[in-house]
Amino acid sequence: MNAISTGALRADTLSTFDPALAYINAHSFDEPTLVISRDRVLAQYKALQAGLGAARIHYAVKANPAPEVIKILADQGSGFDAASRAEIALCLAAGAAPEKISFGNTIKKPGDIAFAHAAGIGLFAADSLSELEKIAAQAPGAKVYLRVLVQNSLADWPLSRKFGCAPAMLPELMQAADALGLIVHGLSFHVGSQTRQASAWAPVLDQIAPHWHAARAAGFDLQLLNIGGGFPADYGQDIAPPSQYAADVMALVQARFGAVAEIMAEPGRGLVAGAGHIAAQVLLVARKDTADLHRWVYLDIGRFSGLAETEGEAIRYPFVTAHDGGETGPCILAGPSCDSADILYEKRPVQLPLALQSGDKIVIRNCGAYTSSYASVGFNGFPPLHVTVI
Ligand SMILES: *Cc1c(COP(=O)(O)O)cnc(C)c1O
Repeated sequence: MNAISTGALRADTLSTFDPALAYINAHSFDEPTLVISRDRVLAQYKALQAGLGAARIHYAVKANPAPEVIKILADQGSGFDAASRAEIALCLAAGAAPEKISFGNTIKKPGDIAFAHAAGIGLFAADSLSELEKIAAQAPGAKVYLRVLVQNSLADWPLSRKFGCAPAMLPELMQAADALGLIVHGLSFHVGSQTRQASAWAPVLDQIAPHWHAARAAGFDLQLLNIGGGFPADYGQDIAPPSQYAADVMALVQARFGAVAEIMAEPGRGLVAGAGHIAAQVLLVARKDTADLHRWVYLDIGRFSGLAETEGEAIRYPFVTAHDGGETGPCILAGPSCDSADILYEKRPVQLPLALQSGDKIVIRNCGAYTSSYASVGFNGFPPLHVTVI
């Protein structure tokens, strides 16, 4: 197998030696494999935490739930944003203290709330009356934070209207929580995933801040501002270094919220994406018509085996091959399964080397987030994404 170049990606603030890429270069793989570097997870955690200052990281577990990743973060004293009983159990098993775990899903099973409560977890998210009632029944006296709907997100992967309540509903929800015996601890929001510019947080913070101040003026003793995730990964676009980005966000928060007792951030993508690359293989390079200028390139990994975020071609991963530097041409990229939805990039084809051929290794860069956790159990008999933590 030929050695694979590091490609034309811009250098970041981390060490230029890339352990996961070196590992992929040195090994061959029977199945698509996500290689995650422990050193990179740790370095990124430290860089983000440095920029966030007094704000505490609660890692969004769904981005990459590999037990080794959770353990590295738990050992650093990180907090965790968990969305289910299984994610909570994973964090506890890695040694995370229950006080450092928040149950941040606004759509919880009553049994999962009871499990969390029994395990000593005391902080829950809600965005509706019904969810507050569930929490009050299963975790009496717990602290809650209310998630506020964000409009006009500038993110590459906005989180839509599925989460959060309109700000106008906050007074009534806070009163209801109070009447149910819950502690109204704070507010949360999410700017949308892969928000590439820190400045894009400003209009979102402007939506939330007046309601924070109004609630405090109305006598609700809000302590916690949960600024969510949205910290970007480097997919080959212009992204500020993690500590700089986080510091810029915190300056915007400070300017609008002033002194807040507790600030919590929930990076997922921005913490783990850059720590891992996928080693994949080209299965077929074909033209559908002799006159076609573009080629179809089929990989052994697709939409159902880890690359779900290519949906809508919203997230565009950078690729590295042994032929980089040679002449390139446009390619439609697709996965191996017998489903026509299993196409990764078609509307905007990907430039890949003309020399690329079936059997070649291809590296999908910076995809340590939202890949292994998105892989199906075995659609068409293709296995879920293998994960190797080095
Ligand atoms: C998924 C999620 C996150 C992480 O978002 P990223 O954009 O990956 O940083 C944070 N908070 C909540 C509540 C989430 O659901």
